[in-house]
Amino acid sequence: MTTDQKKLARLMALNNPNNEPVGHFTGRCERCGSTDLWDDASAYGCNCCNTMYPTGHLDPKVICNSCHTQFELDQDHTCSERP
Ligand SMILES: [Zn+2]
Ligand SMILES: [Zn+2]
Repeated sequence: MTTDQKKLARLMALNNPNNEPVGHFTGRCERCGSTDLWDDASAYGCNCCNTMYPTGHLDPKVICNSCHTQFELDQDHTCSERP
């Protein structure tokens, strides 16, 4: 398990203790179970783990908090903006 996966597993336990359904149309983030979601015309996303789920095609991206770069879920992001 990567650090990221451990972090998400911990968030999932915290955000979704009753193991409710997650993902599209459930109102919960697929990765961390949070209900703290935003949405606009072309995408929705999670304010908790910063994953963005574009609507229309299933290709979720993660947005870096610091540099706002979008990257793939399985991609490692080494942030140059991080102190
Ligand atoms: Zn999330
Ligand atoms: Zn970054």
